[in-house]
Parts: sequence; C-alpha cells; structure tokens
Amino acid sequence: MNVVSKEKVKRYRGTELNTKGWQQEAALRMLMNNLDPDVAEHPDKLVVYGGIGKAARNWEAFDAIVETLKNLEADETLLVQSGKPVVVFKTHTDAPRVLIANSNIVPAYANWETFHELDQKGLMMYGQMTAGSWIYIGSQGIVQGTYETFAELAKQHFNGTLRGTITLTAGLGGMGGAQPLAVTMNGGVCIAIDVDETRIDRRIETRYTDVKTNSLDEAIRLAEEAKREGKALSIGVIGNAAELLPEMIARNFIPDVLTDQTSAHDPLNGYVPSNMSLEEAAKLREANPEEYVKRSKASMAVHVKAMLDMMEKGAVTFDYGNNIRQVAKDEGVENAFAFPGFVPAYIRPQFCEGKGPFRWAALSGDPEDIYKTDEAILREFADNEHLCNWIRMAREKIEFQGLPARICWLGYGERARFGKILNDMVASGELKAPIVIGRDHLDSGSVASPNRETEAMKDGSDVVSDWPLLNAMVNAVGGATWVSLHHGGGVGMGYSQHSGVVIVADGTKEAEARLQRVLTTDPGMGVVRHADAGYELAKKTAREKGIKMPMLER
Ligand code: NAD
Repeated sequence: MNVVSKEKVKRYRGTELNTKGWQQEAALRMLMNNLDPDVAEHPDKLVVYGGIGKAARNWEAFDAIVETLKNLEADETLLVQSGKPVVVFKTHTDAPRVLIANSNIVPAYANWETFHELDQKGLMMYGQMTAGSWIYIGSQGIVQGTYETFAELAKQHFNGTLRGTITLTAGLGGMGGAQPLAVTMNGGVCIAIDVDETRIDRRIETRYTDVKTNSLDEAIRLAEEAKREGKALSIGVIGNAAELLPEMIARNFIPDVLTDQTSAHDPLNGYVPSNMSLEEAAKLREANPEEYVKRSKASMAVHVKAMLDMMEKGAVTFDYGNNIRQVAKDEGVENAFAFPGFVPAYIRPQFCEGKGPFRWAALSGDPEDIYKTDEAILREFADNEHLCNWIRMAREKIEFQGLPARICWLGYGERARFGKILNDMVASGELKAPIVIGRDHLDSGSVASPNRETEAMKDGSDVVSDWPLLNAMVNAVGGATWVSLHHGGGVGMGYSQHSGVVIVADGTKEAEARLQRVLTTDPGMGVVRHADAGYELAKKTAREKGIKMPMLER
C-alpha cells in the first residue's frame, strides 16, 4: 500500500460519528472497511477482491465519496456511477442514502474489450459484487457458502463427510481462499494450487490453510497420508494449475473432488498463463495485453481439459463460478460444460427458500458485539441444528478481517426476524453501536448469471435479467440504506447482472420498519424467482409464507 492511500483509508470505530447520522456513517465505515489492508487483496490499487473488483474508481473519486458521505444529510441520496460520485439529490429520510450502478454496459457492447476501453479512458470501474457495493467482509463472506457446497457434495457422493477424501482446487484469492478451510471443516484433505506464493502465505496467516509447499510430490504425499489417516489437512502448493493438473495426471494422481477458483472470469487480470513467472506475466500484461489474453485463454483450455480428464477417471468435478468452462469452450474444448456448475449441482434448493449469504458487521469494531449476535442466533434459532453448528464452528475457526462480522445463510422470514432482533439489541444498548446488514449479490433473487446462479433453470429462463432489476427497485423503495446494480460480477463482462443491498439497524423504530420491509422483499424475490421458474420447493415456500404471487396457482 503506498503512503498516500494508506493515510486515506481510516479504521473508524466506536460510537463517535464522522458523519451526520448512522446510515451515512455505515456507508463510510464499510467503504473504508472494503479497502482495509487486512480485508482487501490490493488496497493500494483500490482492488478489494475477485480480479480487479474495486471499491471506488480512483483515489480522487474515493476522496470525493468520503467527503460527500461526511456532509450528506439524512434526507439526501448520493448517486455513484462506476465508483465515481456524480450527484446528491434531496430525497427523504426513508430513501436509500446511496444508490450505486457499477460496470453496466448496453448489452450488445457488454464485453471485456469495451470495458477495458472505458476503464482506460477513466469512465468505468469493475465493481465485482460486494467490492463496488461496500459490503465485502473478507474471505469469511464466502466461507459458509463454500462450506455448504462441500457439505452437500459430501452428502450426495461420500455419505455426508469428506473425511478420507482429497479435494483438488486452484486459486487462493479473496474468495477462493475459503476453499481449504471449507474442505477441512467438512473433515477432508485439500490440495490448493496458487501461482502467487503471497496469496498462500495470507491464507496460512489467517488459518484458512494449514501448510505450504512448492513440491507437487510433497503435496501429494502429505495429502495421501492424511487421507489414509482420515485427518483433515489443507496444503497450499505454489504453481500454475494449467501445468500442475496435467503433471498430476501423468503421475496417476486423481483427486476425489475437483474444482477451481482462479479468477478465470478475467483473462487479462485474473488468470496467469502457464510457463511464465509472475514477473514475466506482469510485464507481458503491460507490454502486450492481447498476447497475454491469448496465452491466458489457451492455458485455461489446457486446465479445463485436464479437469475433464480427471472427471473421466473418477473425480467428482464441478465449476466454482469463475466462468472457466465458457472460456475453454470458446477456445474449442467442445465438452467444456460436461461438468456442472455448483449452483444447479448443490445450492439451488436453498435459493428456493430465499436462503443465501446473509451477513452483518459490527460498526463499533468490537468483536464482543458479534459474539453477542452469535448468542442471539443460538438462542432464537435453537431448533435449527445445522445453523447453530455453523455459528459454533465459525466462532471457533474464523478470524475476523477488518470490522468484526458474521455470515450465515438465512432464508425468507428468518432474515426479517433476525433483523428485528439485531435492531432491538442496538436499541437496548446490548450492542455498543449499530449493526450493518447485507448480503452477497450471489443470492437467491438478486442475480441473473446463466453460467452460475441461474444455470440450467427449470423453465429455461437462465439469461432473463429482469429479476435483479426488480430486486434493486423493490429494495430501494423499501428503504434499504444503499442499493447497487452491477454487471459482470463473478463470471465477467457480458455474463451476469446482479444487485446488492445493505441496510442499517440503528435501534430506531424507523429502522425497524425499513428492516421489516427490505428483509422481506429481498429474500422474497428469491422465492418468487424460483417459484416462477417452476421449482416445487419455491412454490411451496411461497404458499406457506403467504407471498402474494398473482399467477402462482394458474
Ligand atoms: P482473486 O483474484 O482474489 O484470486 C484469484 C487467485 O487465482 C489469485 O490468488 C491468483 O494468484 C490465482 N491464479 C490465477 N491464475 C492462476 C493459475 N493459472 N494457476 C494457479 N493460480 C492462479 O479472486 P477471488 O476473489 O478468489 O475469486 C476467484 C474466482 O471465483 C473469481 O472468478 C470469482 O468471480 C469467482 N467467485 C466465485 C464465488 C463462489 O461462490 N464460487 C464467489 C465469488 C467469486
């Protein structure tokens, strides 16, 4: 982090306001938190995670956002266009304090070439999902989703546990770094390849990964030993996945489970081509981006071919949401989609009940506030054993990064109920300061992404993106504190549209009403989207919860 930017990113904590109200304060603290060096992957470049997912367009725009938030009145709304603050309008106190649109491009032009052109001209930034919408909470944000995915996989293929199995993956970045911990939480062994040693070191520091090696033989030996002994172990291996997977096949090593979370969605900034060092890759990216992209895509094709090979030899293989299959298919790997995406394979039933990566952060900065909310979940949702197990495990194993935060997958009804509980805890003074509540855009009713969240929808509506637009509109109307509408997150330009929502529980009656509305409509959109697509579980949920869908029974 360079000196200038380090000075700009502040760790605001405690009950003293730097703004004119807790809603504005929440936006300010969460923007700062996204760029906290303990949270962001490359804060000096304003990059939070996921390739070049940024929190603000440039440092000038960052300064202007900070200054505007500090002066924003309780009846004003700031509009942010791809990381640049463009206007403050007078609205009303129940309206969002910030509205954000990131990386949106007219569909016929929605590709990386156009994006890079606009980015170079200073007209746009890549918002990823929670990077540009200021609700990234470090790798914890994805841990439970990753844990749930591997737990469901274990249920379907290995009698409910990964004990005695080896999972092979690549990519130990902001999101991918959750994989080794999620595998060991499920009792298994994980070999995780990353071409960048510093990323592995970071996962070891935060206890997401156990050990590291630069020897493939050593990694395989350690993994097989742990597998035999039924021990949970995660091993970070320094290397390029497009080189190491074929080498593993040559050594007759086939994992039990196989996936990948390199930033393949972005061939220029997210994936490192094979047979070059990181330094060589950085030079080529700068000197000849076209050649870089060519090599990067060719390496992904090799990588996917090796995955297909391992799948044929018995590895349970799935795509983990980085669009690597699409790149390989475009490169001529005809059967690239032979392995499924993780959503249709393991997650969709949860989406049918409006469940997804719900999260909250303590604006006080005090971990005790989060521990008290953990206790509240254990008390209020005591009959949900799976949820309570998760909370206990998270508390024991997950290090906080930046503002203390917690993630847990809550569904329709549960979110509104818990929102009120949190607001009451703030009102009574049990918590030291307000709580900010949000979620990933990777949620049940907030995203259209045909190679990921909406892959293989029952009614074939995979590419219909009216849903995230409706989601953003209804959440804004309901009084969320900030709402965002993005393009290209997760899988890259042209392949997704999605919206984010964040809402503050400041203990007031007004906040209680807003929370009730927003935490009902938001997961409600998930139930409705899936009921409309014909999923029986979603239809049943809509009926049981009394969601008014005019055409549900027709
Ligand atoms: P990141 O950019 O922080 O990390 C990517 C990592 O991949 C880096 O550590 C990089 O060194 C490594 N890498 C790149 N090329 C490699 C190669 N050839 N071999 C080995 N390692 C290589 O990204 P992230 O936030 O961890 O996200 C990873 C991907 O997962 C993205 O495409 C993202 O959109 C997607 N994603 C998935 C989910 C999910 O739930 N599955 C959620 C969010 C994001």
